[in-house]
Amino acid sequence: MSPLRSLFATLFPRTCACCGDVLVGDERRLCLRCIAGLEYLPSSAAPDNVAERKLLGRFDFVAAMALCSYVKEGVARSVVHAMKFRGNTELCVEMGRQLGMALLRDGRFDGVDVLLPIPLHWLRRLGRGYNQSALLCRGIAQVWPRPVSVGDVVRHRYTRRQSLQKASRRVENVHRAFRVKHPERLAGKHVLIVDDVLTTGATVAACASVLAAVPGVRISVAALTVT
Ligand SMILES: [Zn+2]
Repeated sequence: MSPLRSLFATLFPRTCACCGDVLVGDERRLCLRCIAGLEYLPSSAAPDNVAERKLLGRFDFVAAMALCSYVKEGVARSVVHAMKFRGNTELCVEMGRQLGMALLRDGRFDGVDVLLPIPLHWLRRLGRGYNQSALLCRGIAQVWPRPVSVGDVVRHRYTRRQSLQKASRRVENVHRAFRVKHPERLAGKHVLIVDDVLTTGATVAACASVLAAVPGVRISVAALTVT
């Protein structure tokens, strides 16, 4: 390391986005302790796949998985908060890489052709400055190369934040929120819908329901966390 870089690193040390500890060596965005402390779920083929249980019967899908469990006081929850509400875009990409490595190991997603981040309404995107699911997809593609669908499905209705809705209101809140703008680009493809938090599954189901009308499309789902 050059003396100038070394001085810069001393004055402005890189810190873990979750616990705030100084990062060392190859650690990126999160320290190894936080990465190891994430509430990991077993592979998607293990019995009682929570992500699949939430989506079963709502639309046809090939496979669904979530990397971590989203629990109160959990590491994964802090990570998602840093991704969404503290503007940590690089953390979004890093967590996408973690999700991508899990998809690579899993094996049930090998036939996926394209990654589809859950679209944000343009107003919400303007407010936050980025779509955290799109950044997750960018990270996934770095370790598990697949094209990322941009603008093929749009969120044309502004909806209140799902996390502020009661479970019973969530389906209604996202009803007809999405529209497939370019069906020709997705026809015949195996599409992986990517989301940061799978709660009731209402948002993913609403997106999948419009996608299912595209000829020959098959759908899988990957979420960073599941409640
Ligand atoms: Zn940490």
